Amino acid sequence: MKSANTVLSSYGTTIFEVMSRLAQEHEAINLGQGFPDGNGPPDVVAAATDYLENGVNQYPSMMGIPPLREAVANINKRFYDLDIDWPTEVMVTSGGTEALASSLFALIEPGDEVVLIEPLYDSYLPIVQRAGGIAKFVRLEPPGWELPEDALAAAFSDKTKLILLNTPMNPCSKVFSESELSVIAGLMEKYDAYAICDEVYEHLLFDGLKHVPLMTLPGMRDRCVRIGSAGKTFSLTGWKVGYITACPDLLGPIAKAHQFLTFTTPPNLQAAVAFGLSKDNNYFNKLSGDLEKCRDLLAEGLKDIGFEVMHCQGSYFITTDFRPLGFNGNDEDFCRHITTEARVAAVPVGAFYQGGGVEHFARFCFCKEEDTLVEAIDRLRNHFGG
Ligand code: PMP
Ligand code: GLN
Repeated sequence: MKSANTVLSSYGTTIFEVMSRLAQEHEAINLGQGFPDGNGPPDVVAAATDYLENGVNQYPSMMGIPPLREAVANINKRFYDLDIDWPTEVMVTSGGTEALASSLFALIEPGDEVVLIEPLYDSYLPIVQRAGGIAKFVRLEPPGWELPEDALAAAFSDKTKLILLNTPMNPCSKVFSESELSVIAGLMEKYDAYAICDEVYEHLLFDGLKHVPLMTLPGMRDRCVRIGSAGKTFSLTGWKVGYITACPDLLGPIAKAHQFLTFTTPPNLQAAVAFGLSKDNNYFNKLSGDLEKCRDLLAEGLKDIGFEVMHCQGSYFITTDFRPLGFNGNDEDFCRHITTEARVAAVPVGAFYQGGGVEHFARFCFCKEEDTLVEAIDRLRNHFGG
């Protein structure tokens, strides 16, 4: 038999699926894959039900339904003072994942270099490679996750087509500072590069931090593809409704990729997300405020047990160093061990790096009901003592 595509075949099953299935098998509390255990805002869900029952069920426009595209433009204005022309600068996608894939397929020519910052969300590298891009890695390391500016500069060259930037960042929960963003912007201008900005956690920042899209920095408006996700903004990760904001010269080619990948996204869900994005600021403040409490609850519990807990500035995740617990094994061993023995699942942070070197860190997801987190902490405490 002739072989399938070698790039994709060379990858195993994603760590999120692997850990979630293991968690299910062992009836573990799943703090591995990042998804809330609630059912999202009831009014947004009710809106979807209503649109579903009242016949918004056929193919919508490939660019997305106008009310949602307009709502995305309004969000850009409300939170970031960006003036966006929704008919030419906003497109709806089937989740952030499709937005990333469509953007990468549209912009990369075989042989183009793409700057990727590790730890790396799992879908980036396979798609960059499948599109023929050559990855240039820059590594952030625990516990501080500082951006090594010399290494970043060295990763850029005249062949750089784009950088992929994720802030707030999964799994390390780093929020890039304005000065770090300025360094990135300077390199993009110097090498005439674009940025695909994965900002799916844009509304999930803590301790009063404000999200700053790279797109808002001087000279960046027409170099950035900004990606958001209703999954994170409305705690409804299974909906897979994403959106791209980009200037027409970038969005045009991306729409060409989108039309051959998914073409459209369920219109009833799009309509409900349009309703959701029109909610007032109280909704967005409560979303991050409630999550911040969950972060603190889990961080304190894990510290008490003996984990070293890295600071989390945004997103759904806490990274921990489990060496103080005296566990003998690497991060994958540890995550399997706690899933099967303590019945709490986590994700090994090494899965977000190429080429090893980060082997003693586990990521725990805290976007869960208080009771779920308390029970997970109890189970871990019973297992490890502390
Ligand atoms: N980017 C990052 C960094 C993520 O953590 C996720 C999480 N799922 C996605 C993209 C994908 O978002 P979606 O579920 O909307 O496809
Ligand atoms: N973004 C989620 C995480 O990091 C998972 C998404 C997925 O399973 N692909 O856990």
